[in-house]
Amino acid sequence: MTELRVPCISVNKENLQKWWPHIIKTLSESDFVAIDLELSGLGAKDLFASQIDERYVALKEVASTRAVLSMGLACFKINPQKGYFKRKPYKNHFEQASYDQIHDCLDKSLEESDEDSDEKQDILKNTEVELDEEDEEVVEDIVEDIEDEDFHVEVHVYDFICLCNEYILESKSMKFLVQQGFDFNELARNGIFFSRGNDMKFEDSSYSIRSLLVQIISIQPTVIFHNGLLDLAFLYQNFYCEMPTKLDSFVADLFEMFPKGIFDTKYIAQSYLANSYLEYLFNHSQRNNYFRKIKKQSSINLTFEVFDEPWVQDIKISDLSAKIFEVKFGSFKTCDNYAKYGWCDKLDMCQYSHNIDLILDAELKSKKGRSNKELIKHLKALSTEPCSKKQDSVPMRKCGSHHSGNDAFMTGYYFLYYLILNNNKTTFTEFKKYYENLTKFKNKIFLSGKTHPLNIMKSSFSKCSCNHTKKFKKIRENKEKKKNEEKEKNKVQ
Ligand SMILES: [Zn+2]
Repeated sequence: MTELRVPCISVNKENLQKWWPHIIKTLSESDFVAIDLELSGLGAKDLFASQIDERYVALKEVASTRAVLSMGLACFKINPQKGYFKRKPYKNHFEQASYDQIHDCLDKSLEESDEDSDEKQDILKNTEVELDEEDEEVVEDIVEDIEDEDFHVEVHVYDFICLCNEYILESKSMKFLVQQGFDFNELARNGIFFSRGNDMKFEDSSYSIRSLLVQIISIQPTVIFHNGLLDLAFLYQNFYCEMPTKLDSFVADLFEMFPKGIFDTKYIAQSYLANSYLEYLFNHSQRNNYFRKIKKQSSINLTFEVFDEPWVQDIKISDLSAKIFEVKFGSFKTCDNYAKYGWCDKLDMCQYSHNIDLILDAELKSKKGRSNKELIKHLKALSTEPCSKKQDSVPMRKCGSHHSGNDAFMTGYYFLYYLILNNNKTTFTEFKKYYENLTKFKNKIFLSGKTHPLNIMKSSFSKCSCNHTKKFKKIRENKEKKKNEEKEKNKVQ
């Protein structure tokens, strides 16, 4: 029903150099990037201490002893030349009148029947607007605009496998990761090597995750995380420099590192949804995006790069499509705990289903209201899959689609969905300004068990750390130097 197959580029020490120019180009052209990390452990329980300063001490400790095993990076680029942002003011009365008339006719027709291009042509022929040849071209353009009010977005997803020189691997994390399909053999064989803390030497142009982070910091995209505090600590301690002893300095450093703002999708979701775990947010928004499409409202339309040989061997493709009323599970019930928190202590021993499609089907069915009933009827009619007779083979949960690349993609997808859901801007420039200044959520990181977020900010009370200041200065100088070199090069040409 909804097709979403996401290609992810698996980057390891063997192919990092080959993909480097591709990654840097994608990063430079992106509107925002989402990052997710897979970690070797979470250490002590103090990560949930009631005092935030205590939490920070535990966070620094865990990020210094455990390691990043993989880093997902999803880059989103919105196309301002197509769909929603292409709509422009009418040039004259004729254009406006034709537009309105065609729009009305199409609307009526589409309410009654499925979309059919021949039918649209008939409607166009029957409209009472008299056209000469020149006008027909204008009408063609208008029709194209009517049909396409989508947000066209190009997405690139990467998954970097990272091998730290020395770290603690917790058995609980290992078990979870193996269950999700993480390949520890591949990590040992092909992981991109790194050591934590401060730079041994300043890495800018070499091929490593540390230099990738330097690139991200100099390119300055808006960055998106899900439940981002742990990720930010690990990113900082593993690939940037030694974390400062004070939380105030840490947040001041982050403020400088990501000047276009950090968004935390868990914090955004908590403000208006009952559930806020990533799998829920992604699947929920993917479904709602599909419902918008059915209702002819502007929706997200993603495009992914198609790869030729010899690139294709590095690409993993995951089917992340929502299966609406397609999964049948006999008399089994969905797990209440998993449905609420995306987590259940019993793991795969649980007798109830952890399948997100079933959880969301159940949620949809439980909603009241006539329009919801109609939607369900419509969806069931669309679902052409015959009832599965082999119910034993239906998975308790979706498997094999979990890796940090996909998690980064899901994080960015939800952020994008939230933006278009609340968007009332008409031009791309306004739209970009709108989310870059979304002060309600900008630089606010979710704190588990707290009603207030952690604010990423710099003030006279919170000074940046020495390690950061030194490194950041070099990043800025190098950026300036490269810019000047580029200018000189252009002058010569
Ligand atoms: Zn369960």
